[in-house]
Amino acid sequence: MNGWMRRAMVELRFWVCLGFCLILALIALMGQLDRQQASGAHARLSMGKAAVQSVSRPVYRIWADYDDEARTVSGRMEVTLPADRPETWKEVYFHLYPNAFRRWQWGEHTKPKEPGYLDVSDIKVNGRKATSHIDGTVMRVKLPEPLAPGQSARIKMTYRLKLPKGGSRLNAFGQTAFLAQWYPMLAVKDEDGWHTEPYTTVGDPFYSQMSDFEVTFRVPEGYRVITSADDDLSHPVKGAVTLRQENMRDFAAVITKDYEVIQGAAGDVEVNLWYQKGMEREAKKLHQAAVSGMQFFGNLFGPYPYREVDVVLGETGYGIAGMEYPGLVTSIPKYPTREGERPAVNVVVHELAHQWWYAVVGNNQVKEPWLDEGLTTFSELLYMHDKMGEDQRDLLARAAEVSDEIHEKQGVTSVEPLYKYSDSIYGLMVYTRPAAMLWELMDEIGKEKVLEILQTYYDRYKFQVATTRDFIRVANEVAGKDLTSFFDRWLFFKENIKKAG
Ligand SMILES: [Zn+2]
Repeated sequence: MNGWMRRAMVELRFWVCLGFCLILALIALMGQLDRQQASGAHARLSMGKAAVQSVSRPVYRIWADYDDEARTVSGRMEVTLPADRPETWKEVYFHLYPNAFRRWQWGEHTKPKEPGYLDVSDIKVNGRKATSHIDGTVMRVKLPEPLAPGQSARIKMTYRLKLPKGGSRLNAFGQTAFLAQWYPMLAVKDEDGWHTEPYTTVGDPFYSQMSDFEVTFRVPEGYRVITSADDDLSHPVKGAVTLRQENMRDFAAVITKDYEVIQGAAGDVEVNLWYQKGMEREAKKLHQAAVSGMQFFGNLFGPYPYREVDVVLGETGYGIAGMEYPGLVTSIPKYPTREGERPAVNVVVHELAHQWWYAVVGNNQVKEPWLDEGLTTFSELLYMHDKMGEDQRDLLARAAEVSDEIHEKQGVTSVEPLYKYSDSIYGLMVYTRPAAMLWELMDEIGKEKVLEILQTYYDRYKFQVATTRDFIRVANEVAGKDLTSFFDRWLFFKENIKKAG
């Protein structure tokens, strides 16, 4: 996510330096550091039914009817659980993230204007009625009989999504619906057990696994459907459209009458930028940045594995300057600086870099948010340096000092779960410090080696979930020396940077 731009914008607009840090915009970072220091504080494939049983990933089949007047998406969903499991399951968990917007618990300033929710009913497992229990954004489904390893199960349910007005990410405005984390999402089960971590407004509280999707949207006349899958851009949907995508972590969609598209390509990858009236000037520049960003990251880290990516301009809720989903990202069109408004190139390339760090190489974004945000911020800074001529070394050095101070005062490191961070330090500890770390690593072992680390990490963990430990292991291996103390110092604050010289 690039969630703090909004606050930076508000701050700049009023020439007042108060509130929160960030970071991703250079100007916002400068403001933050000044403030901290001044205060002395601190493949697309067809998915026939026969194929469903043979895969090791969950398979989603979703029917989604959009009612623009009622602001609802409703229909049925089937999830086929993979048979390839090491243990017997007696229950299954789903995230119902839209329920965060039913009774908002995170303060008035972020509260949606009108609530949203996700109701689920009529759950059946292999044709047998199943009982469920919903606690906020988490639903537990008790399986009618235990599911042994090697056995698959098809869970069917009926759902009704009410879109919040002014929600974060999941949002409805004008003639547009942003569908983010909008369907019952199967929770991840790993060696730590079921991941049922609750929603929070700090960071991106989502963790999902590679799945196959087949989604049928039925929409009123005149609407376009932009999704994580490869979309047909030629005309608005006539009645219904079915989209298929294999090996994707999530499936986002935008249903709209408000958007126009600029099409292009980065090598074999189609790059589409969607914009609304009044955004024409930024749209052209941001489309160029998107194409060049996709090329840049593909050359640097390894090929983007999907055929298409969509960039959708617009604000998707309070505090969200941009957001990443597989195959689809959002970004504000521009942001104000002291020199005037600028197209939000850094937001677009940040969100696109997430295709490598989050969409393809997954990580638990709740448990170790630095791993995707740190690598993504570093990627963004590399682009801004190499392609836009921005040198942010001084700012990174200052960010390192300030994060040291924060650690000394609060004990918090860069490798903590989301819930450990307050809004005001999240960006600095999770985005900027790890980016500063990788920048320093370039000085220590050379840019080529750092890129080789990222290439190896990408290649080894694509379509999987990696951890901090995995990243450090790859770095040590590729560098040909033990960098553990370097990472201990930067990520875990085991030794103060200044003392370490
Ligand atoms: Zn991000």
